[in-house]
Amino acid sequence: MTPLPPIRIGLGWDRHRLVPGRDCVLGGLRLPCEVGPAGHSDGDAVLHALMDALLGAAGLDDLGTLFPDDDPRWEGASSLDLLDEVLARLRQVRMAPVSVDLVVACDRPRLAPHRASIRALVAERLGLPVDRVNLKGKTTESAGGPIETVECHAVALLRERRDEVGAD
Ligand SMILES: [Zn+2]
Repeated sequence: MTPLPPIRIGLGWDRHRLVPGRDCVLGGLRLPCEVGPAGHSDGDAVLHALMDALLGAAGLDDLGTLFPDDDPRWEGASSLDLLDEVLARLRQVRMAPVSVDLVVACDRPRLAPHRASIRALVAERLGLPVDRVNLKGKTTESAGGPIETVECHAVALLRERRDEVGAD
């Protein structure tokens, strides 16, 4: 059989309600906003979608399986810590990110002023140059109905490191 190309693609999606009284953590950064994503962890829909894309590309189930909602260990967990855990799983199966692309839809907060910071933070965690982590912000034009949400779509490309000399 012809060997398959040593690259994998994964898709992730997440959505959280935006509610008062929650820190607005998106893409690993705490942003100034009157509402924040509800959730068991910090509700960071951007990192949640990204992690599902990474896990999907690696064939490693999904976020809910790795970090179950009913497990008290993940109560209020930082999604950056969960991302580090996901990256450790990728290393175990000898895969590494090549590039990721993110689309975030919300009416609040405005993402444009924070886009460069989020890209830099995520790129640093993934061990990638900033131009390999893209982030696009969209508004819903209030088309999401009376319930305000933040929604993120993510794609991630991974490479297999199995044949690399010195791969850990
Ligand atoms: Zn989530």
